[in-house]
Amino acid sequence: GNFKRIDLSNKSRDELHTMGQSFNDMIELLEENYKKQERFVSNASHELKTPLTVVESYSSLLKRRGLSDPDIFQESVEAINSEAERMKELTEQLLMLAKKDAQWNVNMEKVSLNQLVKTSVQAFVNAYDRNVDIQADQEVNVTTDEQKLKQLLYIFMDNAKKYSEDKITVRITAMDSFGVLEIIDYGIGISKEDLERVFDRFYRVDEARNRKSGGFGLGLSLAKELEQALKAEVFLSSELGSGTKAMIKVPLSH
Ligand code: ADP
Repeated sequence: GNFKRIDLSNKSRDELHTMGQSFNDMIELLEENYKKQERFVSNASHELKTPLTVVESYSSLLKRRGLSDPDIFQESVEAINSEAERMKELTEQLLMLAKKDAQWNVNMEKVSLNQLVKTSVQAFVNAYDRNVDIQADQEVNVTTDEQKLKQLLYIFMDNAKKYSEDKITVRITAMDSFGVLEIIDYGIGISKEDLERVFDRFYRVDEARNRKSGGFGLGLSLAKELEQALKAEVFLSSELGSGTKAMIKVPLSH
C-alpha cells in the first residue's frame, strides 16, 4: 500500500519507547474519531427515521381512505410534504458536514459586508416576514467566500428567528483587522452550561421544544466548519431569558 514502513534497526530503547508512545496516541485518536463517526451515522439515521415513519403512516392512511375522505387527503398530503421538506433540509446539512472543509470549494474574493447583509436580509424578510434591523455606520469590505459567508449569516439569522419573537438586529462594524457581523436576538437565550454544547453535532437544548421549530441541532456545527473554511471567527454569547448575540469576524480586505 501507500504506507511508509519504519526502519526499526539501530533504534535505541529510548527511541523505541517514544515511538511506542506516539503509536498509542495515534490509536487513541483513531478510536475517538471512529466513535465520533459512529455517533454521527447513528444520530443521522435516527433523525431520518422519524420523518420517514410519518411519511409511511400517512401514505398508508392515504391509500386506505384518501380517495373517500377529502379531509384525510388534505391532512396526509400536507404532512407528507412537510416531512419531505424536513428530510431534504437534513440531507443537505448532512452532506455538507460529511464533506470535509478542505474539499469545499472556497472562493475568496473582496466582498462588501454591507451589500451581502442587505441582500441576505432582504431574502430573509421576504421569506419569513420578520422585522430585521440593519445597523451599519460604515462601508466594510472583507476577503471571503461570499456564498459561504451568506450561509454562515443565514444559520444565525435562522436561529434568531426560531428562538425569538421580536425583531432581529444585524450590525456591521470593523475591529482591528476584521470586519464584524453581529446577529442579535431578544429571545429565550441559552444557559451557560448549554452554551458550551450547542456547537456539538445534533445537540439541541430542549428536544421537545425544538422538534416543533424544526431544527436538527446541526446548524451551529455547520457554522463551525464554515468558520474554519473562511478563516473567520465565530462567537456566541447569550443570557437565558433575554437573548443571544452571535459575532462573526472576517478578515478585512486590503
Ligand atoms: P437547530 O437546528 O436545532 O437550531 P443549531 O445547531 O443551530 O440547531 O443550534 C443548537 C441549539 O442551540 C438549538 O437547538 C437551540 O436549542 C440553541 N440555540 C441556537 N441558537 C439559539 C438562539 N439564538 N437562541 C436560543 N437558543 C439557541
